[in-house]
Amino acid sequence: MSTFDTLGLDAPLIQAIQDLGFTKPSEVQQKAIPILLGEETDLVALAQTGTGKTAAFGFPLIQKIDPSRKHTQGLILSPTRELCLQITNEIKLYAKYIPGLHTVAIYGGASITEQASQIKRGAQIVVATPGRMKDMINRGLINITQIDYCILDEADEMLNMGFYEDIQDILSNTPKEKRTWLFSATMPKEVSVIAKKFMNQPVEITVGSKNSGASTIVHEYYVAGSRDRYQALKRLADAHPEIFSVVFCRTKRDCQKVAENLIEDGYNAAALHGDLSQNQRDLVMSSFRKKQIQMLVATDVAARGIDVDDITHVINYQLPDEIETYTHRSGRTGRAGKEGVSMVIVTRSELRKISHIEKIIQQKFTLKNIPTGMEICEIQLFALANKIKNTEINHDVDEYLPKINEVLDGLTKEELIKKIVSVEFGRFYNYYNKTRDLNASEPSDRGDRAERSEGYSSSNADSVRYFINVGSRDGFNWGTLKDFIRDTVGLGKDDVYKVDVKDSFSFFNSDTTAKDIILETFHEFKVDGRFINVEVSTEGPGNFKGKPKGKRDFDRPGFKKSKPSFDKGGYQGKGGFDKKKKFEFDPAKKSKRRQGFG
Ligand code: AMP
Repeated sequence: MSTFDTLGLDAPLIQAIQDLGFTKPSEVQQKAIPILLGEETDLVALAQTGTGKTAAFGFPLIQKIDPSRKHTQGLILSPTRELCLQITNEIKLYAKYIPGLHTVAIYGGASITEQASQIKRGAQIVVATPGRMKDMINRGLINITQIDYCILDEADEMLNMGFYEDIQDILSNTPKEKRTWLFSATMPKEVSVIAKKFMNQPVEITVGSKNSGASTIVHEYYVAGSRDRYQALKRLADAHPEIFSVVFCRTKRDCQKVAENLIEDGYNAAALHGDLSQNQRDLVMSSFRKKQIQMLVATDVAARGIDVDDITHVINYQLPDEIETYTHRSGRTGRAGKEGVSMVIVTRSELRKISHIEKIIQQKFTLKNIPTGMEICEIQLFALANKIKNTEINHDVDEYLPKINEVLDGLTKEELIKKIVSVEFGRFYNYYNKTRDLNASEPSDRGDRAERSEGYSSSNADSVRYFINVGSRDGFNWGTLKDFIRDTVGLGKDDVYKVDVKDSFSFFNSDTTAKDIILETFHEFKVDGRFINVEVSTEGPGNFKGKPKGKRDFDRPGFKKSKPSFDKGGYQGKGGFDKKKKFEFDPAKKSKRRQGFG
């Protein structure tokens, strides 16, 4: 078995490693450290976050840097501020027994003057996000013309985030002879291009197989109806009482909505997305780290660089647009040799995406049943019994014991246990008792057949026709309605077509693949307090005659037949829609749906 002593690291690093409690090098450390400490070379390492890659490049970098010389010798580029700060902290811990070695973090959203003065005082290692780094170079606040090592960390993420040109500009300010070490979780074409263009015969190492998720992660999927996604999410959380998770949604709006619903239903949840200020995001992240938040509902962009150990579950509330993104999501769990579970909630029509992901990660998914209400009750009951058993006794209650004994006098031990457990358990039982099975049935089942005929009779296998309860009276024409649907759902330019605007309602088509997201987006969706209702039309494309079959939904509670408020300004097309004002949730409506335990 390899130990840190055999890798060629100097005593001050070994001492720091002991302080950190690392007993044995991780796979990427075993592979990378001897190479990087040996002859000067470029390196491409395929490794996920959580595999110990910061130390894999950090230890050799620290050992190779000359702390007696003040100029910047090593530059680490990382995709996010979060990750930049984490790398900086780690490097500082690793270098704690090396006097004179200074590491400075350079990232957006903080004072550039303060960062510039830290650099001026001397920083042999600079950890930076590409945008701020380029800014500092342009303003002449940093000199990287003499660096010996450049590390591109999470290169795939940096490229995903559109930093290609920034990286290119930054590298053009570095000497040709420097060594480049590139770390990436996946190896898309764009990363190979960087490796080819900017690196010199790099040595390649791979941890696990190429593009594969860390082997400590178990992948599971749950098949639910598109309208049951949220209920399924709650059940997955309730079936894991100790869950500490990141829940991924595709859009900021979904992310906010799911987090709000979870909070209202009594879960320790919070949203993390790009519409929050940096301060708000910092606060959310700090509560998450302290485990005050059990369910962090995040978009892919906001979750980049989340580097929190101990995340027990990643829940894919929706699958990502880019299937490759799944690897980044699942890599948030199963870190540092721990076990993790990545769960995916899918509808039947998304099932083929699971096999696509299996090919990419080269790991199998297990089909699991969404737990039934009674299964959850049983799990919660035993979790409660264990919690009681493991709770440390607070002896401050001793003085009240005689009086408590008086109150509970006459109860047998069995009765007492039943009563204590019922205090907590009652809430779960009352909620889950008699709830239905959420597992989406097989295609042969009645429900699914109904769903199919609904989807296919109105259109064809590839395209779905929808009814929407807004029309020209609401200020829409075909163009503005198309924009409204597309912007609200977050679809591409040509994803909505055959828009047919009538007086008080309209029709449109989308590809079948977009059906779930469209129906889900417009599920209980309101603008200015009015429900905007979308459903699959039973009419063929363009053959609508007479009244829409979906009319029954006008009778939904909360739907007002009164003239909608669009005509106050109508939908103003691109940029004209005041989302902040209009895309509001109606708390009164939600409290009626409330099913929580809070
Ligand atoms: P990273 O992949 O660099 O983000 O590392 C993930 C976590 O693993 C960090 O919290 C490190 O401190 C920790 N870590 C790194 N190397 C080891 C090791 N050899 N043994 C135990 N923990 C480690």
